[in-house]
Formats: sequence, structure tokens, C-alpha cells
Amino acid sequence: MSASPASSYDAIVVGSGPAGATAALLLARAGWRVAIVEKATFPRRKVCGEFVSATTWPLLDELSVGDELRDQAGPVVRRVGVFAGTSIVTAPMPATGKSAEGGRAVSRESLDAVLLRRAVAAGATLWQPWTVTAFASGAGRHACTIEDRERGERRVLEAPVIVAAHGSWDRGPLPTQPHRQVAAASDLLGFKARFLGGALDNDLMPLLAFPGGYGGMVNTGAARVSLSCCIRRDHLDAARARHPGRTAGEAVLAHIIENCDGVRAGLATSSCDGQWLGAGPIRPGIHDFGGDGVFAVGNAAAEAHPIVAEGISIAIQSAALMAQTLGRFSPAASAPAALVAAHARYQRLWRRNFAPRMRASALYAWLFMRPLPTRLAVASMQGFPSLLRIGAAWSGKSRQMQSRGHPFALLNAPIGDDV
Ligand SMILES: Cc1cc2nc3c(=O)[nH]c(=O)nc-3n(C[C@H](O)[C@H](O)[C@H](O)COP(=O)(O)OP(=O)(O)OC[C@H]3O[C@@H](n4cnc5c(N)ncnc54)[C@H](O)[C@@H]3O)c2cc1C
Repeated sequence: MSASPASSYDAIVVGSGPAGATAALLLARAGWRVAIVEKATFPRRKVCGEFVSATTWPLLDELSVGDELRDQAGPVVRRVGVFAGTSIVTAPMPATGKSAEGGRAVSRESLDAVLLRRAVAAGATLWQPWTVTAFASGAGRHACTIEDRERGERRVLEAPVIVAAHGSWDRGPLPTQPHRQVAAASDLLGFKARFLGGALDNDLMPLLAFPGGYGGMVNTGAARVSLSCCIRRDHLDAARARHPGRTAGEAVLAHIIENCDGVRAGLATSSCDGQWLGAGPIRPGIHDFGGDGVFAVGNAAAEAHPIVAEGISIAIQSAALMAQTLGRFSPAASAPAALVAAHARYQRLWRRNFAPRMRASALYAWLFMRPLPTRLAVASMQGFPSLLRIGAAWSGKSRQMQSRGHPFALLNAPIGDDV
């Protein structure tokens, strides 16, 4: 494999999902010399329900991608629901205050590619498809070895700041990346497929509750409904044993249909558009914010249970918080002490904004993966549908990002007086 001399940047962003592309875009706009490294070739499919909450669309407008994404997105979602057993409960989505627009789904093929293109237009240097394969630190600088495996090339990129935006599934050399884990019955595995000709109300996004897992459905535009879900490994194994000859995704769908009449009805006349995707195990919880010049954003920092469909929003919003915190410094002033202060401030803002959503997602996951608590919750919601709306609000569906108690104003910085 050939190697060249190291290239120097102010920041290296590892991974170009919604978090990485947002961070690269905003740091490049702030005048930083940014490299963004992404191992996958775009457009690429991803295990994800693809719903982007109303609270994130104003931010997408500030990133200058809102209109382009609206053109490719599904219809506005105005109702949340629960499909569990024979029950179907729905309620209006909580209001967001600032944005009357509502949330909507946009395919990851579009979202990730559009954000990345905008980051490059803002001045970020793109390394794609390159993989970060080694990482070293010393004297206030970090070195990432990146490889283009197809062409057999290797480079070294250096910078004082690393933005860890590699998601939570891929193992790798960064201290923020997960290590190999032993498979466990309780592992949650993610699945996703799109269906043509499904019969789901345009304005409805139901949560699907079934033994050992949970999921969601939403219209993604172009006459397609996406179904994404998480299921425990032991329940997946049992579903596969009950449905021999089917793929893992097909067995999961059969298990969901056995336990959710709403899904059976919604997909009765539909056909699967492409193959099922599977991934995981997912790693819900707060992981690692980095340190020593490494700033973790998106799923690398923390992963909310997908039951609340907030991961993309947290990815984009956390990257924006981080970039605004860092972007207040000129890159030349990114001395270790300044980076430590910026990191502390970023963590503080992160917890203030996202910790409640993480807690709500863990509670709902616990509740809706178990038949008895699900039955009790659904019975309560049938009596008081506003509970469903309140639950959606707790999961972050209505709260704009805050900084010092004020709505987050990305372009109206400075907000840095609480460091
Ligand atoms: C079943 C399921 C359904 C979901 N539904 C929703 C939903 O409806 N709405 C919602 O908001 N969220 C949803 N989520 C969560 C959402 O998908 C994630 O929170 C989101 O993708 C996180 O974005 P990210 O940018 O942090 O990471 P990712 O999107 O995972 O991006 C990380 C990127 O880093 C790259 N990378 C990794 N390692 C390296 C390396 N060494 N070198 C170079 N590149 C690397 C990867 O190729 C990838 O492109 C769902 C998740 C699951 C599992």
C-alpha cells in the first residue's frame, strides 16, 4: 500500500452521517480547515426509520439544505400512534411552538448525501470512500491513518481536533469507537425495509409494540412506507425458528404482524421495495464524549433508543452545539486549555439538551417491549389519548435546542458567555 506525507487540517471529522456532515459544514463555515473522512460510498441505505423531527427542520434551513430535503421528503406527520395487539391509538403530535411545519421522513440516501455535498461546498475536504484505520496522539496533535482499500492507498491526516462522528456500531481505532462484544440474548438488532403500496395514513407515525422489540412506520414519500424496528436477539432466534426458510427481516416482519393488527392491515396490499437491511447490536445510552481534543457527536457520543425516532435530530443538533462551541475559537487559538474549556461547555450543553430524551427513550423501550406493561400503557392511552401526546413531547418532539435557557440560535452567535 502506498503512503504520502501527512496532510494538515484544523479538524478531522471521522464519519459523514448527519452528525459528521453537520459538524464539517459548520466548522468549514467558521473558517476552519476541515477534512471529512467517510468509508461508505454514497448514496447508501441505512437501518433507520428516517423520521426527522419538527425541531430539526429550522436547523436544516440554517444549514441551507431545508428546501432541497423538503422536496425529497415524505408528508408532514401530524399524529403519533401506537399499534399494539388489536389496539390502535392515535393523538395529535405535540406543537413545537416555533415551527408549525411538523416533522417528516427523508431517506438516508438523500439526507446524508445532501448534507455532505453542502459541507464540501462550504470548504470541507472530502476523503470518500476512505476508512480511518489507525489513530495516534501526541504533543497536542492527532494523526489519523486513512485507507482507500480498493485502490490500495494510504494517507496520514493530522489535526489538533478530531470530531468523532463514526456512529455507534463500527469498531475502529478511535478511543470513542466500540470494542468487540460477546453476543448476548438481550442484544437489540435493528431492521428496516420500505414497502410500496402500503396503507398508512399520510399524517400518522405509529409506534409498533411487540414482544421483545419495538418499531415504527412512516410514509417516506414516493408512495413508500418505511418500517424499522429493533428486536432482541433471543426473540429474533425464536421468530426465525417459527418461520423457517425466511430471511431474518422476513421473520421479524412475520413476528410483528402476529402481534400488531395495525401493521397487518397497513401492509396487506404492499410489496417490499428492495431487501431488508439489518444492523447492530445497537448500543443505547451515553457512551463517550471524548476529550484531549476529541469531540464525540451523534451516536458516537450517545444513542437514544430508536423508539423515539430522535437519533437523527440528536446527531444534527449535537453536532451543531459542538461546532458552535468550537467555532467561537479561531483554529490558531485552539490551544489545549481552550479545547478543554470548549469540551466542558459542549458536554454541559449536551446533557441539558439531550439527557431527558435519552431517559424517555429508555423508559418507553422498557415499557413497549413487554406485553403486560404495553397493555396497561395502551389501556391508559385509550382512556386519555393526551398521554400519548405528552409522551411524544417528553421524547423531544416539541422542544427546540436550548442554550442558557434560550432557543438555540445557530447563526446568531455568540452564546459563549456561560463557559
Ligand atoms: C431501527 C432504527 C430506526 C431508527 N429510526 C430513526 C428515526 O426514524 N429517526 C431518527 O431520528 N433516528 C432514527 N434512528 C437513529 C439514527 O439512525 C441514528 O441516530 C443516526 O444515524 C446517528 O447519526 P450519526 O451521524 O451519529 O451516525 P451514523 O449515521 O451511523 O454515521 C456514521 C458514519 O461514520 C462512518 N464511519 C464509521 N467508522 C468509520 C471509519 N473508521 N472511517 C470512516 N468512516 C467511518 C459510517 O460509514 C457512517 O456513514 C434509528 C435507528 C435504528 C437502529
